[in-house]
Amino acid sequence: MENVIIGLEIHVQLNRLQSKLFCGCSTQYHNSEPNTYTCPVCLGLPGSLPVLNRKAVEYGIKVGLALNCQIEEETLFYRKNYYYPDLPKGFQISQYDFPLATKGRILIKGEDGLERDICITRAHMEEDPGRLVHAGTIDKAKYTMVDYNRCGMPLLEVVTEPDLRSPKEARAFLDKLKSILEYLDVFDGSLEGSMRVDANISLRGGDRTEVKNISGFKGVEKALSYEITRQKNLQRRNIKVVQETRHFDELRSITVSIRSKEEAHDYRYFPEPDLVPMRIANWVPAIKATLPELPDAKRERFVKEYGLTDDHAKSLTSEIKVANFYEAVAAKAVPRLSAVWIADVLKGELNYRDLGIDAFQAEHMVEIVNLLSSGAITEDGAVEIIRTLLDKGGSPQEIIEARGLGKAGDETVKKAVREAVAENAAAIADYRAGSERAMNFIVGQVMKKTRGKADPGEVHRLVKAEVEKV
Ligand SMILES: [Zn+2]
Repeated sequence: MENVIIGLEIHVQLNRLQSKLFCGCSTQYHNSEPNTYTCPVCLGLPGSLPVLNRKAVEYGIKVGLALNCQIEEETLFYRKNYYYPDLPKGFQISQYDFPLATKGRILIKGEDGLERDICITRAHMEEDPGRLVHAGTIDKAKYTMVDYNRCGMPLLEVVTEPDLRSPKEARAFLDKLKSILEYLDVFDGSLEGSMRVDANISLRGGDRTEVKNISGFKGVEKALSYEITRQKNLQRRNIKVVQETRHFDELRSITVSIRSKEEAHDYRYFPEPDLVPMRIANWVPAIKATLPELPDAKRERFVKEYGLTDDHAKSLTSEIKVANFYEAVAAKAVPRLSAVWIADVLKGELNYRDLGIDAFQAEHMVEIVNLLSSGAITEDGAVEIIRTLLDKGGSPQEIIEARGLGKAGDETVKKAVREAVAENAAAIADYRAGSERAMNFIVGQVMKKTRGKADPGEVHRLVKAEVEKV
């Protein structure tokens, strides 16, 4: 896909803030009645004046630093003038020249399996417009309703260079960005519309189109794949790709044209006269000092400190909650075995049920890993305990007792081995003649006799020893 050129603009709601960007309205409007979280400022009523939320700028700087950006000495708000029903003022307070942060980068694993930096052009602050609710699809709706609760929410717009080469790479970038934002505790990705993506996409040599307002990372992958196919088909038929803005219709998984692309001069940008420029250079050291350990650094530390494979370390650090869960378990159980069971088993079982790590108790994982490393339960037994805890609750000990998952004692296993060898003379003869299948059959017989409570590797060893003895 080296012919594909993708750049992203990501609108991130800084929704861990208490209040909106220019007024005192709460940011916790999600799942509330429409138009109940508004005031004269965010409704843009005449005579109302914006008051900047200092904390929002601090959060913006924090993100800029975490994205390896340069923080500008002075930053400024502009009016971006356009009319749209979700924007009652007739302009959006945004940034233009002198954005908060510029020239950053994020490390991702590219399509070729190698890690590389995706450059970030800028990150600037702006207010979120309201939300339009169409009765039906955007191109066919009979009417549209507007909800101003979202108006004035603090947004950080992160703009990348056109460095991405496939929908999959775009997805990898978004996953990494989300991971960093959650580490910084400025953002809750579980809230609806908390991260919205505009994607610029072109094929080498062709004009680009912009697909607006895609929500959900799966949606981004789908919209980009559709757009690549559409542009390729046009190119094949020698039809020029028109530079335009398109909308992603999620239900039909297609993009549709909405308007020709605006240029910056269409917006008549000018400095917002109701807000003063801010000198932020001297805020930076204090904010830098509050930066937590970020995903890449944590991953490296997990490899060094706990002896994990890079894949396990990556899987365990992509979500801050999972990383914290792992460290809580690793403090009380064998770290490498804990990593295997959390990354390879627990995460899979959680994903399958569409659950987060909160659905499982770290203490239960400690117990399971310790039972495994002392040999008190088998791997199959451990999987059954995890599934039962997720589906029915209880404690590992209760489940072990109720289901008889404790591993069979040494004597029981040895007795079953002796019996199986004595009872299956024909299979033993086949094994002696070189048949591995005959061995597997005997091991199966022992597992049956112990009702699956023996360790297959151990049984294999014992059967071999028994056969050699005879
Ligand atoms: Zn307000």
